[in-house]
Amino acid sequence: MTEAILATQGITKSFGALKASDDITLDLVPGEIHAVIGPNGAGKSTLIKQICGGLKPDSGSVKLLGQDVTATTTAARAQMGLGRTFQISALAMEDTVLQNVMLGAVGRAGSPWHLFRPVLGERRLREIAEDALERVGLTEDAATRTAELSHGQRRQLEVAVALTLAPKAFVMDEPMAGLGSGGSKRLTGFLDQLRAQAPILLVEHDMDAVFALADRITVLVYGKVIATGNVDEIRANPAVREAYLGDEA
Ligand code: ADP
Ligand code: MG
Repeated sequence: MTEAILATQGITKSFGALKASDDITLDLVPGEIHAVIGPNGAGKSTLIKQICGGLKPDSGSVKLLGQDVTATTTAARAQMGLGRTFQISALAMEDTVLQNVMLGAVGRAGSPWHLFRPVLGERRLREIAEDALERVGLTEDAATRTAELSHGQRRQLEVAVALTLAPKAFVMDEPMAGLGSGGSKRLTGFLDQLRAQAPILLVEHDMDAVFALADRITVLVYGKVIATGNVDEIRANPAVREAYLGDEA
């Protein structure tokens, strides 16, 4: 069996009487895109927060590269290789694209470069940033003011910032949100290639993107996993159609 890069085991989390995560077990293996779908309020973002370290489960565990990280901070997980993107955008709109990647690389507590900032030197930092921009296809926009990028390009820029941390796994919460259909298509193509660098746990509402990208899909309803399978299995699953997909399948 392939060793999971990321795994949750029986994660449970309540907010008062509401069980937002109910015994969730899933994993992410090398090379795959594993999509998590479900209706609004199903607990997708709550799950992502527990995986990334922003929220502590009441019970259950999170493992990263085989190590139990349930009690560790968001920064520690980032440093171990958990690349999270598409949260509230932390990009500085007035800075250039290159400046954002350089700042992102040294400015974050979780960054391996953070401690080395005084000795790393501007030139080495610039190399790291330029390499990341090349990998997301933004080399030609390095000197562009970030505010002038399209929404889709900003998502690519956020991935470039994450790449400076050499992530072993990506976790993304609704990256297609706010993109038009052209933007979604381009970002879908981009994520399809990104999976070669690190597998992606992808929360997404855009079913075209999910069906095009996902090797596996996990369906959450009321905090519980009701199904896991490949695209065909999920589309054909009566409980999933009933609870979520309806006509989209
Ligand atoms: P999704 O991302 O699938 O739309 P969420 O994980 O955001 O769902 O929310 C799952 C449920 O937990 C919702 O009913 C939401 O209102 C509730 N919830 C999320 N965060 C909190 C919180 N911090 N305090 C209380 N209830 C919360
Ligand atoms: Mg959400």
